[in-house]
Amino acid sequence: MEKLQNFINGKYCEPIGGQYIDNYEPATGKVYSLIPNSDERDVELAVQAAEKAFPIWSGMSVEERSEILVRLSEGIEKRMDEFVAAESKDNGKPLSLAAHVDIPRAVSNFHFFATGIIHFSSESHYMEGVGVNYTIRKPIGIVGCISPWNLPLYLFSWKIAPALAAGNCVVAKPSEITPYTAYLLGQVAKDAGMPDGVLNILHGLGGSVGDAIVKHPKIKAISFTGGTKTGEYIARTAAPMFKKLSLELGGKNPNIIFADCDFDDMLSTTLRSSFANQGQICLCGSRIFIERTIYDKFKTAFVDKVSKTIVSNPEDPKAKLGAVVSQSHMEKVLSYVDLAITEGGKVLTGGERVILDAPYENGYYLRPTVIEGLAYDCRTNQEEIFGPVVTITPFDTEEEVLMMANSTQYGLAATLWTSDLKRAHRMADKIDSGIVWINSWLVRDLRTPFGGVKASGVGREGGLEALRFFTEPKNVFVKY
Ligand code: NAD
Repeated sequence: MEKLQNFINGKYCEPIGGQYIDNYEPATGKVYSLIPNSDERDVELAVQAAEKAFPIWSGMSVEERSEILVRLSEGIEKRMDEFVAAESKDNGKPLSLAAHVDIPRAVSNFHFFATGIIHFSSESHYMEGVGVNYTIRKPIGIVGCISPWNLPLYLFSWKIAPALAAGNCVVAKPSEITPYTAYLLGQVAKDAGMPDGVLNILHGLGGSVGDAIVKHPKIKAISFTGGTKTGEYIARTAAPMFKKLSLELGGKNPNIIFADCDFDDMLSTTLRSSFANQGQICLCGSRIFIERTIYDKFKTAFVDKVSKTIVSNPEDPKAKLGAVVSQSHMEKVLSYVDLAITEGGKVLTGGERVILDAPYENGYYLRPTVIEGLAYDCRTNQEEIFGPVVTITPFDTEEEVLMMANSTQYGLAATLWTSDLKRAHRMADKIDSGIVWINSWLVRDLRTPFGGVKASGVGREGGLEALRFFTEPKNVFVKY
């Protein structure tokens, strides 16, 4: 059985404790590799390597760092097929999705920040007759990057690319559920000419190696993407150590559909925004609100499309949905379908596991599910399910739908469908979320601020926001 290794100080190495954990293939439900069960001793090694590398990396010219990161981006591109296959096998997502979304985005993330850093500048504030302030932005030092399983290399690179571009050394941990592409990345970084110790990649459980990263006194900033509960714990642990924190957490996003929308465009996009990546994207719109005058038309058309959506093994080119990420996640999603029924919901389509032919009969496949008849404030409509399950709810007025949309503890993203320009802007202004898409979904411009409000997180990633997070400003005043 293949054993993955940590990547520390430019070399692949075994975890100090010699312990490994199973890595499952969601498509078959079988263990297919082992990953290091690292602990605080491995974190210590990585921090020592990063500490040695920091003066070298931060002392390079921006152009030199940029060239290495551009080569890293090209290195992933050259091995595209290998990365695509690895991501799909590790996560259960259709190959086509990994090929069109996940890995190309990882390539873009590195390229974007590799070139972005060349244009990064800091401010100067002139005081008439008094003097001038200028602000220097320096890398922080050693930073920790912890990422989740749903978009593995996509989100891993979204953090480490700006951290590295800004001149920091990184101790990073991918999710233990989807470690494989992060494991491959070490070699690509080495081949790109990244000095040893600049990027260290550790594998293992959140409670041990993740916790040790958060608690290490020499790691000065933590960039975390994952669940709200984990984010709460990390905030509690890191705050008394005065670490800089960026937290990208859960969501329960509203998708609000007015009767005057472009129906066909809305319908096909809503199918994607509900079920892309098996509904396991933090930006998926899991609560669909439809203006009552088109509720029945929408319900009929949507349920028809959803019930015809093909769930299949990730290698099947016809697959629109692959496997969800793990057995426990599949059980969690199914338990929410049961909860919805006890709360008075009616399952219009889906709601069950799909058993495929061998060798996929033990894979974690779920039929995409649409539920109606639930109160906006019941648990099914308030808690994050993070799977292929959406609810549909009619509304009569803007005020009513705004109240329902804003009723959860979350505030990550929202989607609005209407042809009324004034209403679109009015609603966008009043929705409690960090991101609003009007007549579209998941159109991403890497320069824009990315993140949520309320329990969906603290801080923003993307563009200058990320480069500011990964640098420490120092203001210098000069008297005339
Ligand atoms: P998770 O919180 O369980 O794990 C995320 C990462 O944190 C993993 O690498 C895990 O090992 C690590 N971790 C767990 N406990 C830790 C601890 N005590 N200390 C340090 N690290 C720890 O989340 P998940 O199940 O992997 O991901 C799904 C969640 O991520 C969903 O809630 C989803 O909404 C959220 N998410 C948010 C965004 C966003 O941009 N806001 C993007 C993707 C996913």
